[in-house]
Amino acid sequence: MIDITLLGTSSMMPLPERALTSVFLSCDGHSILFDCGEGTQTAARKAGVSLMKTDMIALTHYHGDHIFGLPGLLQTMHSMGRAEPLYITGPEGLTDALRPLLTLAGTLAFEIITVLIPDGGLELDTVLKGFKHGAKLAVFKTEHRVASRGYVFTLSRPGRFMPEKAQALGVPETQFKLLQRGQSVEVDGKTVFPGQVLGAPRKGLKFVFSGDTAYCDTLTEAAKDADLAVFDATYAEDEQADIAYEHGHMNFRLAAEAASKANVKQLWLAHYSQMIKDPLEYIENAKKVFENTVCGCDGMKETLLFEE
Ligand SMILES: [Zn+2]
Ligand SMILES: [Zn+2]
Repeated sequence: MIDITLLGTSSMMPLPERALTSVFLSCDGHSILFDCGEGTQTAARKAGVSLMKTDMIALTHYHGDHIFGLPGLLQTMHSMGRAEPLYITGPEGLTDALRPLLTLAGTLAFEIITVLIPDGGLELDTVLKGFKHGAKLAVFKTEHRVASRGYVFTLSRPGRFMPEKAQALGVPETQFKLLQRGQSVEVDGKTVFPGQVLGAPRKGLKFVFSGDTAYCDTLTEAAKDADLAVFDATYAEDEQADIAYEHGHMNFRLAAEAASKANVKQLWLAHYSQMIKDPLEYIENAKKVFENTVCGCDGMKETLLFEE
């Protein structure tokens, strides 16, 4: 199960009713905050989520509207007595980008650990114990004038466990759990592999956050078959496709085209320009291309569940 909260949907500057674009993901008792612009703390409060125990902050790029909330958040964590380390990841240049932000945050009683996400993704339980279902965070390159990336969070799900097969192989019941988790066990000097007692792998869960990006193949490939995608939709009008591309963004239609090409289940639009007063007025520009589009709004929540 993955809980997603869209904390904000604005671009460039926070507005009274629209915080800067940021997503809070929680799963298995851990949480990841994607981007942290000015006002993200207030947005989280409004949405009813606590950022204090956030385990990891994943930055898509270092434009101010995605990072200027960091010093304030770190300072609050410190004053609330945080002791656990905080993992931070981002595209190339992370150390340089963090330096001034950490200077502003001042002395912190907890450790900041920068994380490199390898090709193929980071198995999250290697840094954060307790993540299950092979929870993985992967990145993909986006097109946004500066070094930038989007994120893919996935849970995998092994096939159904067949106890009768395990019994036939002489596995004691006390070891069933290990096989269910995908680990091999030793029985009378012989190895029993999960594949011998599990059915075909079942569909996992996938969440994708584009950050700021123009339409690009890396986005549509990374988002393939995602259950939920939050995409850059800075511009609303179809006629703004060129200007969107020039600035490294998408309009509603392009975000919908990317979602359609990637065959995602549901698309949430976000990162609206302040010129868009009411995103709902333009929703048809996306829906005519991809029906399952929702105008993201601050505080919107969704729980992604495994199919039975
Ligand atoms: Zn932005
Ligand atoms: Zn940007």
